[in-house]
Amino acid sequence: MLTPKIKSLILDMDGVLWKADAPIGNLPAVFDHIRTRGLKVAFATNNGTRTPEQYVERLALFGVQAEPWQVVTSALGVAHLLSQKFPAGTPLFVIGESGMLQALRAKGFALLSVEEAEKAQAVVMGVDHGINYAKMSEATLLVRRGVPFYATNPDKTFPTPRGEIPGAGAWISVIVTATGIEPVIAGKPAPFLLDLARERLETGKDETLVVGDRLETDIAGGQAAGCPVALVLSGVSTRAQAQAWRPAVDLIVKDLTTLVN
Ligand SMILES: [Mg+2]
Repeated sequence: MLTPKIKSLILDMDGVLWKADAPIGNLPAVFDHIRTRGLKVAFATNNGTRTPEQYVERLALFGVQAEPWQVVTSALGVAHLLSQKFPAGTPLFVIGESGMLQALRAKGFALLSVEEAEKAQAVVMGVDHGINYAKMSEATLLVRRGVPFYATNPDKTFPTPRGEIPGAGAWISVIVTATGIEPVIAGKPAPFLLDLARERLETGKDETLVVGDRLETDIAGGQAAGCPVALVLSGVSTRAQAQAWRPAVDLIVKDLTTLVN
């Protein structure tokens, strides 16, 4: 299935490796196979609430050995993007959780409390289970004042065993409605997160296969990053949707096992 040209894989996780707590296929065997073929691997997720270390622990639970550098999240993507625009020490008002707070602190940014929010030079938003009216009000006031607005990912919902709950995109839409201003988004389908993963893998665009289960984020993102793309049918998007997608998807496969065998 894979051409010899491919030197590395950037894998989405939910819908590619697992669905909730159930692995998709024999993951230890899949990754043995990937290693045998000499392919490098990075994991790229739009979920920015967990840290790379937390993902490494989760991967280990499924029998997959990985190191934190191999994991990029939309929180790392937004921190990377901000570090290209603002110097270390810049005060930020952040609505987010540990994954995002850690990523921004690692770049040297000063994170402001709700009480100090007025001093912010940028607003950064992702999923925050501690979200409240005060945080949303401060973010709205800042964005309306023209302070640059960044966000992790546009996903409107987040899958749980009980169904879909509001994702980052749903919360962001409140600020967009209140301000009329759209944020700069780091996660897929924007290319920033995938660019960061590819920089770490040190492989060329045409040597890096982006693998995901969702056309409008993973596949659109891979195409925006200029990489070949593979859709696995083990998650959200269907074969009929994939065949109708333009530009055409390079590979459409049942699952990751089929892709690497
Ligand atoms: Mg997915």
